[in-house]
Amino acid sequence: MGSDSRPLRVFFFPFMAHGHLIPMVDIARLFSSQGVHSTIITTPLNANYISKTTSLSIKTIPFPAAEVGLPDGCENIDMLPSPDLFFKFFQAANLLQAPFENLLELERPDCLISDIFFPWSVDSAEKFNIPRLVFHGTSFFAMCAMESLKTHKPYKSVSTDSEPFLIPNLPDEIKMTKSQFTVDAWEDTEKGLGKLLADARASGLRSFGMIVNSFHELEPAYADYYKNVLNMKAWCVGPVSVCNRNVEEKIARGKKSAIDDHECLKWLEGKQPDSVVYVCFGSSASFPDEQLRDIALGLEESGVNFIWVIRRSSESGSKDYLPEGFEDRVKDRGIVIRGWAPQVLILDHPSVGGFVTHCGWNSALEGISAGLPMVTWPLFAEQFFNQKLIKDVLKVGVEVGVQKWSRNGEDRVTKEKVEKAVRAVMVGEEAEERRGRARQLGKLAKKAVAKDGSSYIDLHNLLDELKLRRETLS
Ligand code: UDP
Repeated sequence: MGSDSRPLRVFFFPFMAHGHLIPMVDIARLFSSQGVHSTIITTPLNANYISKTTSLSIKTIPFPAAEVGLPDGCENIDMLPSPDLFFKFFQAANLLQAPFENLLELERPDCLISDIFFPWSVDSAEKFNIPRLVFHGTSFFAMCAMESLKTHKPYKSVSTDSEPFLIPNLPDEIKMTKSQFTVDAWEDTEKGLGKLLADARASGLRSFGMIVNSFHELEPAYADYYKNVLNMKAWCVGPVSVCNRNVEEKIARGKKSAIDDHECLKWLEGKQPDSVVYVCFGSSASFPDEQLRDIALGLEESGVNFIWVIRRSSESGSKDYLPEGFEDRVKDRGIVIRGWAPQVLILDHPSVGGFVTHCGWNSALEGISAGLPMVTWPLFAEQFFNQKLIKDVLKVGVEVGVQKWSRNGEDRVTKEKVEKAVRAVMVGEEAEERRGRARQLGKLAKKAVAKDGSSYIDLHNLLDELKLRRETLS
């Protein structure tokens, strides 16, 4: 490289949802560890969620919740009183453009890494001649599958929502049904989710490239397909959660735990290796009470040790949503966490041997990095695609059997199905084989981010390219 030895200055601008904020903070830390001056741009409340163990700079801009009719202080998707307010939240997010641009004009960073859900930030970056990288936050697999759906519209060839169709031109034979994604979003790009996704895609195409939280060895055929067949510029730097190496870093990641972290570790210490299943559905989904009861009974009947994280929306009514006496009956082998769990701390513990997940990409990748087989229980977003990757391509998952895309688990899963899937992933010969494959992936994940691993090299390639660009401009 040339003579300019000043550290690169990179702005990170994550969307205000934990599934976006958490990995972006990890990416900013990764950059910092390689000498970059990383600054997170966020709103005041979300700044509180950024780990105190980091030395990242933080700059805040106020979130105009009240201006669009959201409750004051509603600055994160997980604070929405109802999912119907989702688009209002995006309306408020769009109003961040002006104050954000003031900041860019003042600070002139060498690069902007901004969320897919801020499509306008590509214009902001262009105004000041700053390269913008888009952070999508999902797998290469899901991005390739979505591009194929968009281009070929194979779902038009089936007459019912439950009839499978092939997603054309992918490296593997992947079949889906219409009920597993939001067809409307592919058809109507003028409003709602369709418009949001179309704007996001268009702004991605105008960007300097994409930063991907994955690793080459996990989905090589899809990483190559994305870059070489679809011709997208992408740097693959994950799994980024692995940068949280010690207990303190794992505890400090995301929100404050609703459980004493050290008590949780102590409880895990008392259990046999691979004997505990961890059950969690991400940072924003919540189930109807009847579904919670079925999960409780399924876990009880399975006889397996468990940690179960329950998130309920503030709208949910009764407090007696668990079956009577449930917690007493399982007290020696189960913990219920109501609220936020220290997920990576738990997943990485040797007593944990399986993960029931909604297949949000961060959770999926955290499970993979911990070397765990998974019960896949997708709900919404691109989670059904991630399920396909986990079960059909990587062969480390057991489906619980959800067929229908829905924000809050309206496709009910019986207690028998919960019990069956949990036992299938935890006990028996097939479970051991699956766990062996998952362990292997966990090893590859750690290798990818270690010195001279594939993600480490890709990160350095990106930094070199950004430095070169800065030198050419100066
Ligand atoms: N998470 C956590 N504790 C919880 C719930 C979620 O630490 O109780 C973290 C999890 O480790 C992951 C993120 O929140 O990093 C959730 O992202 P994901 O993509 O899995 O799902 P989303 O919340 O976007 O649906």
